[in-house]
Amino acid sequence: MTARILVVDDIPANVRLLEVRLLAEYFEVLTATNGPDAIETCENGKVDVVLLDVMMPDMDGFEVCRRLKSDPATSHIPVVMITALDQVSDRVRGLEAGADDFLTKPVNDLQLMTRVKSLVRLKSLTDELRLRASTTRNIGIEELLSRNFASEDTAPKVLLIDERKSSVERIQKMLLDRADLDVIGDPHAGFFQAAETSYECVMIATAFADFDPLRLCSQLRSLDRTRFVPIILLAEEGEEERIIRGLELGINDYLMRPIDQQELTARLRTQVRRKRYNDQLRASVTQTIEMAVTDGLTGLHNRRYLDSHLQTLFDRAVARRRPLSVMITDLDRFKSINDAYGHDGGDEVLREFARRLRKNVRGIDLACRFGGEEFVVVMPDTDGAVAEKVAERIRAEIAQKPFAIGADGKTIEVTVSVGVSSVLKGVDTVAALMKRADLALYEAKSGGRNRVVAKAA
Ligand code: GH3
Ligand code: MG
Ligand code: MG
Repeated sequence: MTARILVVDDIPANVRLLEVRLLAEYFEVLTATNGPDAIETCENGKVDVVLLDVMMPDMDGFEVCRRLKSDPATSHIPVVMITALDQVSDRVRGLEAGADDFLTKPVNDLQLMTRVKSLVRLKSLTDELRLRASTTRNIGIEELLSRNFASEDTAPKVLLIDERKSSVERIQKMLLDRADLDVIGDPHAGFFQAAETSYECVMIATAFADFDPLRLCSQLRSLDRTRFVPIILLAEEGEEERIIRGLELGINDYLMRPIDQQELTARLRTQVRRKRYNDQLRASVTQTIEMAVTDGLTGLHNRRYLDSHLQTLFDRAVARRRPLSVMITDLDRFKSINDAYGHDGGDEVLREFARRLRKNVRGIDLACRFGGEEFVVVMPDTDGAVAEKVAERIRAEIAQKPFAIGADGKTIEVTVSVGVSSVLKGVDTVAALMKRADLALYEAKSGGRNRVVAKAA
């Protein structure tokens, strides 16, 4: 795992100390000895994680963190605060400033690598989502990033898998009011429970009498539904080896027993916050993709979607020697509807047309708005004769019931012309299929409109 780490400390010897250890793990290291320089580096460079000393003259670490977190351009960069030992109030202040994690001086090697690696992993996931979201559509993302985790107040849904009663009771007490906690003793049952419910964090104890807890970690990571759930390992003193193996398997963090309440809630909060952030991003990406293939006015698929799927449906039909038909519909004299009822009236007609079209095709048919007042329906497993019947049904459905427009119950007579074509045996192409449907539509128009013309296969 390679990543660029920015080390910020006003004492050069401290900077070098961390630098050497990070370089030994093949991280790329940038350094700064004061707050303003650190902020500038974050704004300019591709920083993946910031290790930030709290005690600095002029601008202290809290202020640097606050500024990084309040700028949408840098707010997604994970910040680890480095506080003096046992300064519990510093940890709290750090979290309030938006820090993602904290380490205490002198910095323990295992902790340093755990925090950094875990944050780098999360950051690369976030980066990928950010990239995908911004390449498809640019809006929404910055707003999302600057949003200050509005949902942070709700208690996270957490699963604790631990078979020891006394340990469970202690953790329950610590998380009272801070988490919606489910507990399960049996690790096998715990796995299914985690898969069936959507938890925001799973905490796994290492001390099972008869079970390897890392097996559970690896199972959770390989299952789709739990791939992204944060895992915190509750380890015993002396289990460094196991923690390192766990990190390789993808656990996100660990806590050493005896568990400190402050640390437990802080680590849980960090994991949940990241998860919620990434969930929001992922939802935004999904929505962006949907918007890219959907026609906003009618909710049908758009032309882009048709272009990318028609070839697939065509190839499948040819390979399976199954029929495939398409129809192109075009509303008659639509310009005069716009002229008479305005553009909004025309839009209402388009929406109602789309509704009737959808009602008259099957679920496996692909109905799209091709553009303007033209629509295309692709019908798999449908030969020309059946497709012509479907087209005729749609034509009649439009012509027989006038369209209601506006609130005052005005109605308009609307008709549609339809061209139908089917895949020919032997040599045929998508372009030729569409061309024949288009020619058929032209014939329907010139033949007087409000009719169906089919190019027989
Ligand atoms: P024909 O019977 O020959 O098809 O006549 P037509 O008037 O329907 O055909 P033409 O292609 O000349 O006009 C289509 C009109 O559709 C022109 C355009 O202003 C209108 N139009 C295209 N997209 C939209 C839309 O999204 N909303 C509305 N209201 N009108 C649209
Ligand atoms: Mg037209
Ligand atoms: Mg038209």
